[in-house]
Amino acid sequence: MSKLYRSSRRKFISNLGLAGLSIPFANTEDLITSIATKQKNMPLQKKLGIALVGLGGYASGQLAPALLQTSHCYLAGIVTGTPSKIPVWKAKYNIPDKNIYSYENYDQIKNNPDIDIIYVVLPNNMHAEYTIRGFAAGKHVICEKPMAITVADCDSMISAAKKANRFLSIGYRLHFDPYNLEMARLGTAKKYGDIKKISGGLGFKATPHQWRLQKKYAGGGPLMDLGIYVSQGMCYTTGMEPIAVTAQEGKKTDLQRFSEVEQSLTWQFEFPNGLIGYGSTSYDDDMNFLKAEAEQGIFELTAAYTYNGLKGYTPAGNMQFPLINQQAQQMDGIALSIKNNKPSIVPGEMGRRDVKYLQAIYEAMRTGKRVSIKAD
Ligand code: NAD
Repeated sequence: MSKLYRSSRRKFISNLGLAGLSIPFANTEDLITSIATKQKNMPLQKKLGIALVGLGGYASGQLAPALLQTSHCYLAGIVTGTPSKIPVWKAKYNIPDKNIYSYENYDQIKNNPDIDIIYVVLPNNMHAEYTIRGFAAGKHVICEKPMAITVADCDSMISAAKKANRFLSIGYRLHFDPYNLEMARLGTAKKYGDIKKISGGLGFKATPHQWRLQKKYAGGGPLMDLGIYVSQGMCYTTGMEPIAVTAQEGKKTDLQRFSEVEQSLTWQFEFPNGLIGYGSTSYDDDMNFLKAEAEQGIFELTAAYTYNGLKGYTPAGNMQFPLINQQAQQMDGIALSIKNNKPSIVPGEMGRRDVKYLQAIYEAMRTGKRVSIKAD
């Protein structure tokens, strides 16, 4: 790691809680401690057992392999509607029969002391139901992003967590990624002065899975799936919440594929100090960046939201951080907060806030008008 980034991180750690970092980074200490792997003083009680609900691309490609690298949690169980997947998962992850569930007997998980945390990795419209049932079973829940497809669903999920007295976290891996944390640190500490312009984009030319193109399942198009990261990036880099938004739907060149959801979308967040945040997302164009143009220079990530291979630049040089497994950091960070009975740094309230922003962007897109975003 370069000298610059060793010293900035030390400063960041020493400035914890003083840098105007609000909800998203309220518990940054745990986070940085985890990233620095300084876990010596943490309680070393048993690893918490996670059950993955939905064994699709993300669960099988990223989360399950990451759970082989975690220190505070492990893959204890699975919930699947596809029996043919069971032998493979059993063999690969050494999962006992008693920890394997279907969607039908899922609620019986309440009787299983091996499972501490349920991780919902289903299509977006199923997040609310399986999260609420997870809380009814007395478990903690991690729910993938977007938290749900309506704010009302988010409210029900938060209420269920409170009623069960269990933690709800959203699968926001970038809150555990050093490059994105560095953007937040530089922006909120005003390292290069006030930010004069912020922009971000995430998109790729892909044939997404079928459910992602169906409004009923996905709640929308690339905004729900990818644009959510851009919206978040602009908030944690500026340390501000938008007060209004305007938005424009991109031209549809593939009317068949995009009959129900947008193909691409641009939006402009208005922040309280007059700063404008320019966001874009697409299932058609390649883009992956988060760029802050400040009084004394530009700091940015190009490849901002990928699992690895992120690149960051600042007026003082290139960012250099050790390679980490974002998902392992994220799940360990969340497990650790549960063990220590501390609030999650990626709580349901943050997921709800983001769904509220996405809904405001869609309303602005539909109406062509500036839509105010009320603080809760
Ligand atoms: P996927 O289509 O690969 O997997 C979805 C799983 O849900 C499959 O196992 C499927 O069998 C199961 N399923 C159960 N009922 C279903 C139904 N009625 N219709 C369709 N599938 C059904 O999707 P994915 O890419 O794994 O995404 C799952 C969730 O994870 C989404 O909410 C997505 O936004 C999120 N995700 C997050 C990240 C991240 O980086 N945090 C990355 C990818 C996906």
